[in-house]
Parts: sequence; structure tokens; C-alpha cells
Amino acid sequence: MVDQVQTVVIGAGVVGLAVARALAQTGREVVVLEAADAIGTGTSSRNSEVIHAGIYYPAGSLKARLCVRGKELLYTYCAERGVEFRRCGKLIVATSAEQVAQLEGIRQKAAANGVDDLQMLTRAQAQALEPALACHAALLSPSTGIVDSHGLMLALQGDLEHAGGAVALLSPLASAQVQDGGILLRTEDGTELLAQEVVNAAGLWAPGVAARIQGLDATHVPTAYYAKGSYFTLSGRAPFSHLIYPVPEAAGLGVHLTLDLGGQAKFGPDVQWVDDPSHLQVDPQRGDSFYAEVRKYWPALQDDSLAPGYAGIRPKISGPHEAAADFCIQGPATHGVPGLVNLFGIESPGLTSCLAVAEAVLPHLPAQP
Ligand SMILES: Cc1cc2nc3c(=O)[nH]c(=O)nc-3n(C[C@H](O)[C@H](O)[C@H](O)COP(=O)(O)OP(=O)(O)OC[C@H]3O[C@@H](n4cnc5c(N)ncnc54)[C@H](O)[C@@H]3O)c2cc1C
Repeated sequence: MVDQVQTVVIGAGVVGLAVARALAQTGREVVVLEAADAIGTGTSSRNSEVIHAGIYYPAGSLKARLCVRGKELLYTYCAERGVEFRRCGKLIVATSAEQVAQLEGIRQKAAANGVDDLQMLTRAQAQALEPALACHAALLSPSTGIVDSHGLMLALQGDLEHAGGAVALLSPLASAQVQDGGILLRTEDGTELLAQEVVNAAGLWAPGVAARIQGLDATHVPTAYYAKGSYFTLSGRAPFSHLIYPVPEAAGLGVHLTLDLGGQAKFGPDVQWVDDPSHLQVDPQRGDSFYAEVRKYWPALQDDSLAPGYAGIRPKISGPHEAAADFCIQGPATHGVPGLVNLFGIESPGLTSCLAVAEAVLPHLPAQP
């Protein structure tokens, strides 16, 4: 006898938990299948924990819309649920005269996304805020902040459980089959579940999970690419109270300085394309290039003050030489499988956007009576 459940979410990262919470709050019966022995051990605990303002993404893209909406939802949610956060603001710094013009382009891009609070600062104005900073000019983003990502996930899980949902740990999905009565899911220990609705929120593994769904046309499964980002932590305290970002690079946001809620500073993430999404060790050698990058905006960085921290891997669906892909929320209108939603390429700003991604998933599934 196969157990039946209305809705299954695959993956208990911040996105899967936010989606599961939203679905449970519509009255659905929701189970989250998580491969690991705890929630949030994937990319959701290997990031910068920054609440992004929504500055860099192409106007009208899902990344732009869901980041701007998600930021507002997240600040409100954290305040209501007692999740720790700080609206510390960030400075995007031009470290050469040529980059000053790029700041104006960034400001215009942000405005097109509805982020109209960026302030252009002269060198003197920037240094009045951050005396240790070296720059030609800077853009201040007052709505950027930091959040306790694990506290956020615990709050989302709490809401899910309060609405009657559950997380099943150590339950990796092995295979699935589209049938007349729904989607039959099989976990690695052989447990079978028949679900009316399935949301694939498996992060780095989402394309692999989708490829294992018999009945989903393989042409709808994107190729997965992995861009690793390593962080190095600073010994001692950094003399900064804002996050400090260089002008962005092609595949990431540049080696930036972020602060955690305890005030610890870290630098990163860099960009290293890898073949294996479980390759999470930090190569200490990569730190060598950080010194030169960081000293462009913080010349006083001491030799030997950076230590290998941790690494995260960006779940990309565009390769190293392609334009960055948008978030992909793929529902039945695209692939034709009733009740199935795949979430592909939910890289940064996925943490910021999690509550808005959840909102955006709902219309892909049948309305609840
Ligand atoms: C280096 C880096 C820095 C970033 N910085 C920021 C930032 O500052 N701000 C921001 O907004 N975003 C940031 N992001 C993006 C953000 O971290 C991600 O968008 C977000 O964490 C994705 O969450 P998720 O739930 O989709 O994936 P994950 O957290 O990876 O969760 C997926 C879950 O699925 C589970 N799973 C996988 N396969 C299976 C299976 N077969 N069966 C069951 N479960 C399975 C995994 O165990 C995992 O728990 C960053 C990302 C990286 C890599």
C-alpha cells in the first residue's frame, strides 16, 4: 500500500522550506523530503548571508523582481518572527577612475529595478562613513543587510510545522514516475509516496532530481554548472561597519567584505568553475590572490591575516562563457506534467528572494478550494 500525500517538496534549504511553508499555509498537506540529516546544510548555509537590495539584475528578470519583493518580505518576516538581521547598508566602491562611470550605470540599473535609494558618494563622503576605505567614489545602498540564515530556516520550519507540515530528514529522493493519480516518489530506502504536487527545490541537485522523474521530457532539464566560491576569514576585527563590494565581475559580485551578525569579517566568494558539487574544501592557495583584490579598497590589510573559511557552490544553469541565466521556475505550462514545479538555477539572490520565490510557485499549482 503506497502512502499518499498532497504535496511534496524536495529539499529543505531556505527555498524549499519557504515554499513548503507557503503551501502548507494554503491548507495543503505538505511533506519535505531532505537527503541530509538536518535542514539547511547545503548552499543555504554556505553563502554571504546578505539581504541583497536588487541592484545588479536585468530589469524585469525574476532575479530582479523576486529580490526586490523578497527583500521587503524578508525584513518584515525577520522582524515579526525574531530572526536576527541588521540593515547595515553596503558600499560599492570604484577603485580606479575608470570604474567611477560604472557606478552610475549600476545606479541606473538599480533604479530600473525599483531600487531608487542608492546614493552616489564622493571619496570624502565614503571615507567619512568608512575611514579605512580607499576608493575614488562609492555607491551607498542603504537597504542592503545581513541575516542569520539558520535562524531564518528554523523559523520557516516552525511555521511549516505549525501549519501541519513536516520535514522528513535522511530521505533522499531516488526516483519518481508520473502516473495518472499523481507522481510516485521513491526514496533511497524504498519508501514510496504518491503526491498530487511535487516541488523540486533540490538546489545544486535540482537538474539531477528532475532527470530522474520518468514522464518529464528530458528537454526540460537544464545542464547543471557549478561555480564554487571560497571565503577567507579575517583574524581580528575589520574597521568597517558597512559591507564593502567592488564593482562586480562576470560570474560573481567580486571579492567583497561581509560581516556576520557577530561582527566577524570574511572576504569572498571568488569564482572557480568545478565539475563536482560536493567539492567544498577551501584551497588555501586561493587566498593569495585575495590580498591584492582586497587591498584595492582596504590597503591596510595585514599580511597573513586571512585564513581559509568555507566554500559554497552556485547552482548555475548557464556555463562559464554564457550570459548569466535567470532563476527558472518551471511549471506545468512549460513541461506539461500536472502538479510538478522545478526550481532551477536558484543562485544568489536566492536567500534574499526565498519568500518571494515561494509566492511565485503558488500560481503554478491548482488553487486550493
Ligand atoms: C557562495 C555563495 C554566496 C551566496 N550569497 C548569497 C547572499 O549573500 N544572499 C543571497 O540572497 N543569496 C546568496 N546565495 C544564494 C543562496 O545561498 C541560494 O540561492 C539558496 O541558499 C538556495 O537555497 P535552496 O533551498 O534552493 O538550495 P539548498 O540550500 O542547496 O538546498 C537544497 C536541499 O536539497 C537537498 N537535496 C538535494 N538532493 C536531494 C534529493 N535527491 N532528495 C532530497 N533532498 C535533496 C539538499 O540536501 C539540500 O538541503 C549565495 C550562494 C553561494 C553559492
